[in-house]
Amino acid sequence: MKVGVLALQGDVPEHRHALEPLVGRGSVVLVGRPADLADLDALMLPGGESTTLSRLLDETDLRRPLRERIEGGLPVLATCAGLILLSRRIERGASGREPLPIGILDVTVRRNDYGRQKESFEAPVEVEGISGRKFPGVFIRAPRILSVGPEACVVARREEEIVGVRTGNVWGLTFHPELSGDPRLHERFLAATARRGQSRKARTSTPANRTTAASKARR
Ligand code: GLN
Repeated sequence: MKVGVLALQGDVPEHRHALEPLVGRGSVVLVGRPADLADLDALMLPGGESTTLSRLLDETDLRRPLRERIEGGLPVLATCAGLILLSRRIERGASGREPLPIGILDVTVRRNDYGRQKESFEAPVEVEGISGRKFPGVFIRAPRILSVGPEACVVARREEEIVGVRTGNVWGLTFHPELSGDPRLHERFLAATARRGQSRKARTSTPANRTTAASKARR
């Protein structure tokens, strides 16, 4: 499995360090140009500064190929600024300077809605498919999900508040699992990605090569 980390700005090394023990060192690649998107099985969109990331997506000509790959089924785990970039609508905040969203996740978000850096906090989060103790949510100048449209479903809550959504295998979280030291969310995402890859392979394999695989298995 080859997993990319969008490496334009933000907490790229943290995602990399979270992934390497799970998929192996050689399987994590940094994505900085359109060509780097080839052969990826999944992609991380890290936290950082969404206005800067949005500008860099244009400067590197990554915006369009990235959108096309995600629309074509590339699984994505987007955290914080990454979620802002993938959202469909960004409500105007105090700065009045909002990034251009890619528009894949059917949510409306408002940036920095919990306040400034010093209002950053940690809080337990309930995540779909993760049982046992709650996930340690690290919220840093986090966006707030104001509403969720019919094409997205909720995957994470902090008490009643929605802090994570998913459309297919495109996940957007307002918090940072890559900074929590807890591997369960990356694990959960990668397991779902692997399952999807398997079922896609099964759907696309022809009866002829299925027979070959089956007869090889018998040998
Ligand atoms: N406040 C940042 C933004 O609007 C996001 C912060 C983060 O990714 N931790 O882009």
